[in-house]
Amino acid sequence: MPARNLGLLITAAALAVASASGAISVAPASGAISVAPASAALRVVATTTDLAALAVAVGGDLVSVESIVPAATDPEAFEPRPGDIDKVRRAVLLVRVGLGYDYWLDTLTKQIGDKRLLRGGDAYLDASAGIPLLEIRGQSVMNEGGHAHGVANPHYWLDPENAIIVTAGIAEALVRLAPEQRQRIAANRERFLAELKKRRQRWSERLAPFAGVKLIAYHNTWPYFARRFRLDVIEFVEPKPGVSPSPAHLSQLILEGRKAHVRAILHEPYEPEEASRLVARRLDVPLVLLAVSVDSVPGTSDYLSLLEHNVAALAQALSPPGRQAP
Ligand SMILES: [Zn+2]
Repeated sequence: MPARNLGLLITAAALAVASASGAISVAPASGAISVAPASAALRVVATTTDLAALAVAVGGDLVSVESIVPAATDPEAFEPRPGDIDKVRRAVLLVRVGLGYDYWLDTLTKQIGDKRLLRGGDAYLDASAGIPLLEIRGQSVMNEGGHAHGVANPHYWLDPENAIIVTAGIAEALVRLAPEQRQRIAANRERFLAELKKRRQRWSERLAPFAGVKLIAYHNTWPYFARRFRLDVIEFVEPKPGVSPSPAHLSQLILEGRKAHVRAILHEPYEPEEASRLVARRLDVPLVLLAVSVDSVPGTSDYLSLLEHNVAALAQALSPPGRQAP
C-alpha cells in the first residue's frame, strides 16, 4: 500500500512547540520525530512518534528524543532501515510499544548485543508494562499476514488514561539514569498530567452525547479509545489485522452495518481508502479520518493534539447537521 509522507511539515511545527529552547532537526527522508535540545544529556529513542511525544513531555530539556517508525506509514508493517541500528545503539533510553507491535526491534538489539538495550537492561523500557490490556490472547501471534497484533491489542496509547502509566514508566527510567534530575522530571510530568486531566474532562463531555454509538473501523485500532469514551466499534473493514477485504466480506459488513445502525466509518491515514469509502457510501454515513499516531494526520503534532484531533473529528462527524459544536 502507498505510504504517503504527509508528516514532514507538521513534524517541524510539532518540534517548534515541543522544544522551544533546543535545536531542531527533522530527518527529511523519514519524517520521524527528532528533538535535540542544545545541551542534551539523555538520548531517548522511541519506536513510535507517540512514545517519543510522551518522552518529550516528561524529559523536556533534559532529553533529546528520536523516533524510528515514520509517522504516516503503517507501523505494523514497518521494517528497519540501515540507519536505525545506529540510532538504537546510541540510545541512553530505548522506549518501545511492546506486545508484538514493534517486534523488529528485537532483531536490532540482538544484533547490537549491548545488555543495556535488552529486556531487563537499564536502557530498556517496554511502555506496555502496567497497562490494563484488552483483547489478550493466549499466545503471541506474530506477524500474521504481514502484521502484528501480538499478545494483546497494542494500540493502548489511544486511551488518555494510559498516558498516565506510560509517562510514569518513562519518568522512572529517566530518574534511574539521571537521579540528580528527579525533581525536574517529576515537575515536567505533573505539568503534562494536569493539562491532560483538564482536556480529558472536555473530551468526555464532547463525546458524551454519542455514548453507545455503533461504528465500523478499517483496522482494529480503537478498542482502548472506544472503551474510554463509550463508543462501540462493532466490525472492521479488514477481516483480520493486515488482510485486505474481499467483496463477500464487504457485502456482509454493509448488511451488518445497516442492521446495527452504524453511524460512521473510522479510517486510518495510511490504509487504502477504497473499501472504507464504499462501505460509508452504501451505509450513507461519514468516513472519519482519525490519527492513529502523533503526526499521522495534520494538526497532531504532540500527544494532546492527537487526542484533541480524534475527539473533534468524531464529534463533528456524529453531530446532526446544523447542530455542530464549535
Ligand atoms: Zn493494529
